[in-house]
Amino acid sequence: EEKLQLVRNSIKCYPDFPIQGILFRDIFPLLYDPKAFSAVIDLFEDHLKNKFPQIDLIVGLDARGFLFGPVLAQKFGIGFVPVRKKGKLPGPTLSVSYSLEYGQAEVEMQSDVVQANQKVIVIDDLLATGGTLAAACELLNKVGADILECLIVIEMKALNGIKKLGSVSVHSLLQY
Ligand code: IMP
Repeated sequence: EEKLQLVRNSIKCYPDFPIQGILFRDIFPLLYDPKAFSAVIDLFEDHLKNKFPQIDLIVGLDARGFLFGPVLAQKFGIGFVPVRKKGKLPGPTLSVSYSLEYGQAEVEMQSDVVQANQKVIVIDDLLATGGTLAAACELLNKVGADILECLIVIEMKALNGIKKLGSVSVHSLLQY
């Protein structure tokens, strides 16, 4: 459809970034064009509305999940919670470490912001190896949240990140 085409046309590819051998997909052009950005948000919103009768929270990943998550949360009149890279969040936090497509990392969430049984959607820009989203889901499982789905703009199919997410459902707008 038209909106999806607009989104697809706004993704730029950069070979060998940030290191040799990585084909980096840049989603920022989506934000340069307000029509393309609306299209992403509309597609996410329509999908969620059709699939889930109730959503309590949107959880977004550092850093590009922060671009889509809060806007989407506003559409549903619900809150947004950030999962951040280690050392960025004040107060009591929960953390999970994991390995990345390039490197090693640790994610954190403030320990008192998501309650047990809350229905949450986890959002990020891109699924590569799945390590980042899996770590975020592990954080949410620690507090007993009910993860409805992981929502992403781009899924890199060949890296099979979905496998790392186990039984958690994943919805992507574009697949490469
Ligand atoms: P994963 O943990 O291997 O699935 O990597 C996903 C994380 O790395 C996400 O937070 C992405 O923002 C980032 N990432 C990995 N590859 C790319 C890319 O090609 N473009 C943009 N972000 C990427």
